Amino acid sequence: MSDKRYYAFSDYLKGRFGCKVYKISIDAGFTCPNRDGSMGEGGCIYCNNQGFSPNTRRERASISEQTRRGAEFMRARYKAEKFLAYFQAFTNTYAPLDTLRRSYSEALACEDIVGLSVGTRPDCVPDDVLDLLASIGQNKETWIELGLQSAHDRTLELINRRHNVASFIDASRRAIDRGSLKICGHIILGLPGETRDMMLDSARLLSNLGVHGVKIHLLHILKDTPLADAHSRGEIPVFKFEEYVSLVCDYLELLSPDIVIQRLTADGPSDLLIAPAWAMEKKRAIDAIEKELLKRDTRQGARASLPDAPHNAF
Ligand code: SF4
Repeated sequence: MSDKRYYAFSDYLKGRFGCKVYKISIDAGFTCPNRDGSMGEGGCIYCNNQGFSPNTRRERASISEQTRRGAEFMRARYKAEKFLAYFQAFTNTYAPLDTLRRSYSEALACEDIVGLSVGTRPDCVPDDVLDLLASIGQNKETWIELGLQSAHDRTLELINRRHNVASFIDASRRAIDRGSLKICGHIILGLPGETRDMMLDSARLLSNLGVHGVKIHLLHILKDTPLADAHSRGEIPVFKFEEYVSLVCDYLELLSPDIVIQRLTADGPSDLLIAPAWAMEKKRAIDAIEKELLKRDTRQGARASLPDAPHNAF
C-alpha cells in the first residue's frame, strides 16, 4: 500500500484485485436528457461533450472494439493487467433497459474486464436500472458515478444541471441500499457564486451519505460552452494553482477516510481548454496537494467529525 495521505483509487484497486487495474473509457452512443430536449437542450453550462474522452471525438467503434483498443493502450503505457469498463460519455443509464443490459454485457464479456463504472445523472437511475446494475454487482465490481457537482440547489440551478441535491441524496440512498453497488459522487470546486465554505459542504454531504468514492474536479472553462461566454465577459473567475491546492487539502480533511479518491483535479483536452492554463498540469497539481498535506501534517478525514461540522444540515 502507498504512503499517501488520502485513500487513492489506485490503492483501493490494488488491494481489491492484487494487480494494476485501469479504467477504459467507453462511449456507448447514449445521449443526455439535459441535451436531447426531454429535460433541456443547452446542457450544463460547463459541458462540452467532446471533452469527455478520446472516444467521443472520433467515429464511434463498437463497445468491444473500444474496450480492446483501450486495454491495448493501457497495457503498453501503464503495464495495466485488468480493467474496469468506464461508460463515461453523456448519461449512461439513459436508454431502454434492454439496450443498457446489452451494452454492459458486451463490455463485461471482454478480456480482462473485472467490472463496470457507469457515469450518470442522479435523476436517471430508476429502480429497474439500479436492479440491473445491482445484479451485475453481485459478481463484478460495479460503480455508479453520480454527478452532484454542488451541495447547493441555487448553484445547480445557475449551472443548469436540472436536478437538485435531494435527487442526488435519493439516488445514492437507493443505490447504497442495494448492497452490491459502489457509489462515486462527482463534485466541482470553483463553481460561480460559491464561497469556499459552500464548496466544502459537498465533502460533509458525501461523508454523511456514506458514498464509496468521490471525483473532485477543478472548474475549467472549455470552448463552445455557455461558461466560456460568461468567462469572456469577465463573469467567471477561475482558481489560481495555489488556491486550488489549498482548497482540495481542506476538502480532503473534511471527507470521511473511507471514501476512495478517484480524482483530485481535472484536465481538459488542450485544444478545448480556455482557463485556467495550469489545468493541463495535472501531475504538478497532484504532487502539490500531496506536499501540502505533508506540510500541514494532516490527512483525509482529519477534520471529518469536528463537532461544529454541519452534519445535520443535509
Ligand atoms: S448531465 Fe452530463 S452530459 Fe448532460 S449536459 Fe450535463 S455534463 Fe453534459
